[in-house]
Amino acid sequence: NHAKRADSRTCFFNALMADELRQRERLQVRFSDTLNHGQLSLHFQPQFSLASGRLIGAEALCRWHDEVLGQVSPAIFIPLAEEQGLIRQLGDWVLDAACSQLHHWDAQGKPFPGRLCVNVSAQQMDDPGLAEHVLRLATRVPPGRLGLELTESGLMRNPEQTVSITQALSDAGFGLAIDDFGTGYSSLTYLKRFAADTLKIDMSFVQDMLKSSHDHAIVATIIAIAKTLGMDTIAEGVEAAGQAEALRDLGCTGVQGYHYGRPVDGDAFAALWL
Ligand code: C2E
Ligand code: MG
Ligand code: MG
Ligand code: MG
Repeated sequence: NHAKRADSRTCFFNALMADELRQRERLQVRFSDTLNHGQLSLHFQPQFSLASGRLIGAEALCRWHDEVLGQVSPAIFIPLAEEQGLIRQLGDWVLDAACSQLHHWDAQGKPFPGRLCVNVSAQQMDDPGLAEHVLRLATRVPPGRLGLELTESGLMRNPEQTVSITQALSDAGFGLAIDDFGTGYSSLTYLKRFAADTLKIDMSFVQDMLKSSHDHAIVATIIAIAKTLGMDTIAEGVEAAGQAEALRDLGCTGVQGYHYGRPVDGDAFAALWL
């Protein structure tokens, strides 16, 4: 009946939109179900040092497989979780699953040799309990083994609060990266004050850096800023050897992308080391 109301008010509302709305409602219902039914999992994508070629970390990426809808992209279900007020529950699940996976690899005699990074959505940054929740994880895993990826928009929602949260987490030893750097609006003043140790260069710049001198210059500038601030850089979405070479020439710290490995489940991922 929400659809009907919209219909009587605007002539732009048409069958196609009704379809989309129904699809959306279906997604919402199924998603709110999934948190209770264990249809979420984590996949892991490797990050390598450009200098040594060593595996230095991984990004944990959430996956939702629904028995009716099939595989649904996080680009769709993360915003859904935010709208439905479920992002906190999802975020806690992801952190818990990441710690469990580290323990699982330990128990198999294959401790992960790098830092495992978990994404935190913009809306999760509003949660005053987030820092405390993460700090408590230090009793389960050494904080240096975990990192958080925060987007610029998440960081800038309440920058003063972010300064203190990132400081507390960094003091405790957790890794902190700014995700998709260059796509949001960020202030250089705050960049200096956030206690992040890594800038992740957004894949849109990386993927065009060989074709566009403009994008090449942006990547070079991000790496230069990071160096000035004593931060590392990880280039996202590296798909070709030529991109990796150009990034190495610019002094980028690490790389992540299909050229090196796609996100895979924990067992497949563990084949990458030892
Ligand atoms: P992101 O954090 O920027 O993650 C990188 C995305 O790029 C991932 O998409 C990854 O699979 C994809 N990717 C990696 N290498 C390449 C490449 O070489 N080429 C291309 N074309 N893509 C590449 P994915 O897994 O679909 O995740 C999309 C976004 O969803 C993530 O972007 C992140 O913002 C969000 N997300 C994923 N998992 C979580 C989670 O557990 N919590 C939260 N809050 N957000 C998540
Ligand atoms: Mg990320
Ligand atoms: Mg990213
Ligand atoms: Mg991205």
